Amino acid sequence: MFGLYLHIPFCEKKCSYCDFYSIESTEHIQRFVETLKREIDLRAATYDGTAFTSVFFGGGTPSLLHPDEIMVITTLLRSHFVFSDDCEWTMECNPGTVTLERLEGYRRSGINRLSFGVQSFQPAELEFLDRIHNADQAAVSMHLARRAGFDNVNMDLMFAVPGQTIETLRDNLRRMIELQPDHISAYSLIYEHGTPLYADLLKGRVTPLPEEVDAEMYHLVISTLRQHGYHQYEVSNFARPGRECRHNLTYWHGEPYLSVGPSAHGFLGTTRYWNYRSLSAWTDHVMKGALPEANHEHLSASDLLTEHVFLHLRADGLRLAEVQRRFGLDVRQRLQPDLTYWIEAGFVNDHNDVLSLTAEGYRVCDEISSKAAARMAG
Ligand code: SF4
Repeated sequence: MFGLYLHIPFCEKKCSYCDFYSIESTEHIQRFVETLKREIDLRAATYDGTAFTSVFFGGGTPSLLHPDEIMVITTLLRSHFVFSDDCEWTMECNPGTVTLERLEGYRRSGINRLSFGVQSFQPAELEFLDRIHNADQAAVSMHLARRAGFDNVNMDLMFAVPGQTIETLRDNLRRMIELQPDHISAYSLIYEHGTPLYADLLKGRVTPLPEEVDAEMYHLVISTLRQHGYHQYEVSNFARPGRECRHNLTYWHGEPYLSVGPSAHGFLGTTRYWNYRSLSAWTDHVMKGALPEANHEHLSASDLLTEHVFLHLRADGLRLAEVQRRFGLDVRQRLQPDLTYWIEAGFVNDHNDVLSLTAEGYRVCDEISSKAAARMAG
């Protein structure tokens, strides 16, 4: 697998909880697209011809770009790079920014998967999160996406939002499932450092839901989605069979991905790089003909092993033969005595030479994946 990520750093309005790099302005979009094209040219100069299997327009709000701008970018990409015939082309969309005409335009430019940041169907929760859309727009967006020909659509759902109750979460799940997305990403609200939400937390203006309520909500999410045919293939991700997000799997399987745009992170086998997290610094570097990398790091064999174990366990499982082949290690032996305990306690399945988390295991995923990674590296 080989992924390509493009970061589109514009939002109509910043959401209080978001720590992704984006600015609340659309006046620089035209210049941004020109600069992005230049960075793509620069990256193409060292391209080795490996076919990309997924492309992801993330942000920010990529759907603030006009379909003609997306078409210009995808056309340029196709002129420089090779893409597999079944390449997944995802674009993140804010439900408040789409029309049928725009969605049809994105489809024509090659986008074949959409990801809507729905988060909630409750007006109070949407307001708390500073979302620009309402519940009706989320539903309308899904209908428009289907009409525009998209048969692969994700919706994001947020839980553990202050003020949320088990009943409102149950209602959110019901309404989302009624819309029949092919994939659902369900995240517990995180209080990220540096966000307005975090500042409110420090000032005592918001009170997080108690941990046990968060855990109860996560359990409700897992059990409800499973009942409705969505299987869990990562701690926060659920899909209909065959609709797992290939781009995300690229990250979680430690496969390489190229990234462009301000703040974008790339990983090319053993090196990770990250671009400037500033539109102006990124633009200045690209326009001077330099790669806009703020820094990079080379990962040691031990780093790669730790990441491999951590990411695979959180996702769809650790393949024992693969660890033996890549790192020359016997996982079952290395993880004792914890592995026996995790299996007996019902947290981990050991099936067909794959260790994977059970639904119970996903609830203590951080603890298990961190401990397993440390044991393997030690
Ligand atoms: S729309 Fe998305 S990227 Fe923009 S601020 Fe909100 S969560 Fe962040």
